[in-house]
Amino acid sequence: MKVFGEHHEMFRATVRAFVEREVMPHVEAWEAAGRIPKTIWPRMGELGFLGIEYDEKYGGAGADLFTTAVLHEECARSRSGSFAMAVGVHTDMASPHLYWTGSEPLKEKYLPAICRGEKLCAIAVTEPGGGSDVAAIRTRATRDGAHYVLNGSKMFITNGALADLYFVAARVEAGETTRRHRGISMFLVERETPGFGVSRTLAKTGMLASDTAELSFQDARVPAENLLGREGVGFYEVMRVFQRERLVAGLHAVAMSERALEDTMAYVRERQAFGGPLSEKQTVRHKLADLATLIEAGRWLTYAACQAYAGGDDAVREVSMAKLFTAEMANRVAYDCVQLHGGYGYMREYAIERFARDVRLFTIGGGTSEIMKEIIAKELDL
Ligand SMILES: Cc1cc2nc3c(=O)[nH]c(=O)nc-3n(C[C@H](O)[C@H](O)[C@H](O)COP(=O)(O)OP(=O)(O)OC[C@H]3O[C@@H](n4cnc5c(N)ncnc54)[C@H](O)[C@@H]3O)c2cc1C
Repeated sequence: MKVFGEHHEMFRATVRAFVEREVMPHVEAWEAAGRIPKTIWPRMGELGFLGIEYDEKYGGAGADLFTTAVLHEECARSRSGSFAMAVGVHTDMASPHLYWTGSEPLKEKYLPAICRGEKLCAIAVTEPGGGSDVAAIRTRATRDGAHYVLNGSKMFITNGALADLYFVAARVEAGETTRRHRGISMFLVERETPGFGVSRTLAKTGMLASDTAELSFQDARVPAENLLGREGVGFYEVMRVFQRERLVAGLHAVAMSERALEDTMAYVRERQAFGGPLSEKQTVRHKLADLATLIEAGRWLTYAACQAYAGGDDAVREVSMAKLFTAEMANRVAYDCVQLHGGYGYMREYAIERFARDVRLFTIGGGTSEIMKEIIAKELDL
């Protein structure tokens, strides 16, 4: 089955060249610094990578979902989960809130800068008290004349320390438990907003080059026109954008696993034990055959979900299955590939070690595996 056309492959060559020349040589320095330099964003904007499906009138490229898929696959092949994640958050997890539900003046004001990479985006839904139960968020937005006043905090926010624009979920009517879902709205918050602050940058297991932050809102006054869509539709918008986030997560998991498998195959061909290369041992060959099969299954589940989604279906079942399967798959690939590297697989100097730490996030971020199973069970009418 053919998924990509000639134009996608041309675009792939452009992204791959960029990643090989301008990302991969710097990955270790970025991991050590705990951040990706902001200069990468205008460069990616210049190359047309940051508004792929957005209308050209806002600086986008008006391309299709599979062009977006190419971008994320190639970013994930960089051997830096952090880089892929930072890009995915900007392009497909945060800014769609503006593109899909922002007013025309708001889109005209911010989208061109987002597409040029002059304004970096973050999505702030999770709170210290919980992430899976989105309807339980407690950050509060109170209308006060021409503003909403935000109070609360957000946890684990990717691009959180460095972003310029934050897409923030807040409860407009505080304390109402009966309107759990319908009490939530999305706001666009500028970094410079008085009362908004980055409380701390969080130290993590993996994804080290990606800055992850806790955010605080203390009487942060946000212009009323920065409400995205109508009051009360925020929960549904978060769920809508989650679909896209989960597709991107699937694409990342597959492309990162494929790269890890390639690296492992190169390693076992070189590594000698008991008078010959590891690649000649039958159990090693079978393990790699199993992993290759698993990755192929993940790839086609993800492409099928992309196709259903691009065709206009809600695709909740397909997307959730792809997210669940590929997240678990990547962790199986990580476990086996580290094992095949022996002691070197446990050393920082080998990319497989970083891969194993990075993909641990996949069963947690963007909806945990347990939450995916809950959604799938519901889709099965259980
Ligand atoms: C590195 C990193 C980056 C992140 N980036 C962002 C970001 O940019 N923006 C953002 O908003 N969030 C972000 N997150 C948050 C992420 O989406 C949440 O961590 C995730 O949704 C889980 O929420 P939680 O951590 O509060 O866990 P909890 O919701 O407390 O869950 C804890 C455990 O309980 C399980 N559980 C919960 N409910 C059920 C249930 N009903 N049935 C069975 N099991 C259940 C979960 O599956 C999990 O295993 C990020 C997280 C990390 C670690």
